[in-house]
Amino acid sequence: MTSSTGTTGLIFNEPLLWEMGAKGRMGFSMPPRDVPKAPVDNQLAGDGPDFADLCEPDIVRHYTRLSQWNIGVDSSMYPLGSCTMKYNPKTNERQAALPGIATAHPFLPSDHCQGVLGLIYKLEQMLAEVTGLDAVTLQPAAGSQGELTGMLIFYAYHVSQGKRRTKVLIPDTAHGTNPASAALCGFRSVPVPSNDQGVLDAKIVSQLMDDETAGIMVTNPNTLGLFEDNIKAVAEAVHAKGGLVYCDGANFNAVMGVVDVARCGVDILHLNLHKTFSTPHGGGGPGAGPVCVTRDLAPFLPVPRAVKENTRYEWSENFPQSVGKLHAFYGNFGILVRAYSYILSLGNHLQQVSQYAVLNANYIKEGLKDIFHLPYDRPCMHECIFTDKLQQPYKITTLDIAKRLMDYGFHPPTIYFPLVVSGAIMIEPTESESKDTIDGFIAAMRQIAKEAAATPELLRLAPHFAKLKRLDETRAARKPCLCG
Ligand SMILES: *Cc1c(COP(=O)(O)O)cnc(C)c1O
Repeated sequence: MTSSTGTTGLIFNEPLLWEMGAKGRMGFSMPPRDVPKAPVDNQLAGDGPDFADLCEPDIVRHYTRLSQWNIGVDSSMYPLGSCTMKYNPKTNERQAALPGIATAHPFLPSDHCQGVLGLIYKLEQMLAEVTGLDAVTLQPAAGSQGELTGMLIFYAYHVSQGKRRTKVLIPDTAHGTNPASAALCGFRSVPVPSNDQGVLDAKIVSQLMDDETAGIMVTNPNTLGLFEDNIKAVAEAVHAKGGLVYCDGANFNAVMGVVDVARCGVDILHLNLHKTFSTPHGGGGPGAGPVCVTRDLAPFLPVPRAVKENTRYEWSENFPQSVGKLHAFYGNFGILVRAYSYILSLGNHLQQVSQYAVLNANYIKEGLKDIFHLPYDRPCMHECIFTDKLQQPYKITTLDIAKRLMDYGFHPPTIYFPLVVSGAIMIEPTESESKDTIDGFIAAMRQIAKEAAATPELLRLAPHFAKLKRLDETRAARKPCLCG
């Protein structure tokens, strides 16, 4: 191994809070009591809650040290496929923290928050323009909640046409949340096989489509990192039988300003602002999954909706066909601010974001395909997928490769997903990595391929430099220790 940005630095051991400190130690000094002693309430009477006894530096250092165990987009390349872990420019954080924005209370009368309402209204318009669709809700708090919104709209639309439909077509290259969202809404999902090119075939879709089927949910680009190039014909086949086309646009980072979704025949699409539009994500933190629809479906969008009356912005609940409310108030507003700031700061360059994201993924694909098996050898979108097939003769698996990458200072890519590819290694570099960083990643992967043949035991025991080595993942899942 030549050079590494890996984890050989100053990394401290860190006990649990309860194992630190000493009885009676605390982070502040109270003035002497000048009132009679009385219990505040039952909770605080007696010994009080089981907090550890610590002073302020103990606590600050504890959390600072724990934060140093983390790797994130601010510390290293994070090529986690399907997640778009890209660098989030700090200016967008600053706008979201501006006092007038961060402290705006959702109960403010609209007279007092015209700026905030205007931002919501304008962001909806921008997302409509970016996608080519007509109307947008910013309410859903995640991509998957956007999907649920879409399924509720499927349901409401068909009821408005005088018929309940019971099934939804879901390709085998769809994201796992798609069938879950359909099921949550009471639909039965019907799997659609992709063809040998890894994409949908309109003929197969047409055969599966009937008048019991509400429509299709297509992830595009799909979870193989491929653009569904038959999407228009697929949409025509679905529309011909009265169905709707839902597009999971969580992977929109690949096609911004390049693909007009409406012209592809899509009726409903969700975006993940916490992937494509500059909100840090991971660990299940707050997100935003706006849903964009055609003009015909706009009446079904969740309420309240921001409307403009002359020069004033208002909230309106006056949409009798609406599917209702998906989130308290108007969604996760801070994330909407980041997206608004991101779009304004990039302007016409949004398209370049996608072009670089796609270029970078294809560069990695070409840089590794002679030493890692590439199941679909065709131009990819924002991510590329390899497998461990060429390493299997040395009994080296995808997991070993991922663990060894940590020794080279890279967060491992997504592994064993999508399920349609056995032993998948799914790499998404995003547009924010420089050529130097990507070359470093390719070099590390090439070195690992060599090690697989020459010193496989090195890989089987990896990571060597991380704080913890191989974890017992089965036991962690089956017997989680949640008590600290
Ligand atoms: C991330 C992702 C989702 C789910 O988004 P959440 O915000 O995590 O609910 C859905 N579909 C695709 C293709 C994704 O990549």
